[in-house]
Amino acid sequence: MTIKLYDLDSHLRRFEARVLSCESSGDRWRVLLDQTAFFPEGGGQAADPGTLGGAEVLDVQEEPEGIAHYLDNPLTAGETVIGEIHWPVRFRRMQNHSGEHILSGLAHRLYGYENVGFHLGEDVVTIDLSGELTWPQLLELERLANEAVWKNVPIRAEYPDPEVLKDLEYRSKLELTENVRIVTVEGYDVCACCAPHVSFTGEIGAIKILDMMRHRGGVRFTVICGTDAQRDYAKRSEQVKTLSNLLSVPRDDVVQAVEKLKAEKEQLERTVAQRDQKLCDMRLRNLRQTEGNLCIVDEFENPIAMRELVNAGMALCGGVCAAFSGDDQNGYRYIIGSKTVDLRSEAKFINAALKGKGGGQPTMIQGSCTASRAEIEAYFMEKNKE
Ligand SMILES: [Zn+2]
Repeated sequence: MTIKLYDLDSHLRRFEARVLSCESSGDRWRVLLDQTAFFPEGGGQAADPGTLGGAEVLDVQEEPEGIAHYLDNPLTAGETVIGEIHWPVRFRRMQNHSGEHILSGLAHRLYGYENVGFHLGEDVVTIDLSGELTWPQLLELERLANEAVWKNVPIRAEYPDPEVLKDLEYRSKLELTENVRIVTVEGYDVCACCAPHVSFTGEIGAIKILDMMRHRGGVRFTVICGTDAQRDYAKRSEQVKTLSNLLSVPRDDVVQAVEKLKAEKEQLERTVAQRDQKLCDMRLRNLRQTEGNLCIVDEFENPIAMRELVNAGMALCGGVCAAFSGDDQNGYRYIIGSKTVDLRSEAKFINAALKGKGGGQPTMIQGSCTASRAEIEAYFMEKNKE
């Protein structure tokens, strides 16, 4: 079996190994080594990226014959190659994984909850606990986890003897009696785990819980640690700085400033809606009974106001009631209604005259046109004279 160098030294980035076999596997090459520092996918963590003998390591899987490395180029069996782990990715994963153990260990000790789901994603880590916690309880968990970081306690990975293992209290307890890898965060957690971890909690850096949701009778929360937390803090800090400049208030006051802005916007919207209604009422009052056409060109607030006006106008005129909204520069949208004229067949003449397009029912059509206000008004006035 492949010797797992990452078990002996989680900080090993570069190693030498002998190629035991290399065979093609689809469009990739499957390589077995005598030893490897590449962590294979497992326990919620993806396989380590990196290079092996100059070839790209695309995937690493633990298989019955040993740890299989899937490469983009072949290697030669028997040769000795250099393997290099893509360290920033691996270290980020170790920071997050070790941070997860501390949080899960604390949740277990304080509330008796089990970790029932763990996913180490590209941006964040998600943790599922078997019982519910409130947001303040999670924040307290976060505070205690950060305390564990400041204490800089050691993290050990070892395979205890069956005798020791039998009586050992640990999370994720397995049926197995030997070859169980136990990861201990001194004073905080003991858990069965196959992944590489940092050596001291200080390496984790900040631990930050971002949010939570209820999930299957428990909670699911997202966490970022170390480099992820630092990057996130830098981003949030820039965002608050920009907001503070935009709002012209100190950084600590941005929330109140946005709340005030929101209240002002709602007040303005109410005022505008009242004015719109007054305008609608005024337009309706101005409609006059006529045997001919009615034509109203205006800047309407919305299509509903336009349609209401056309409905009212249709009842008052003998021809068509046409409402146009817009201006000469950007063109107009129209709604035209009639009780006497078949607008579906009239539409092509209207569109031809006003450089427009649109259609609809015999009693109402809608569309848009690029004719000027003067041309629009002239068209419907001319019709009145016919
Ligand atoms: Zn683990």
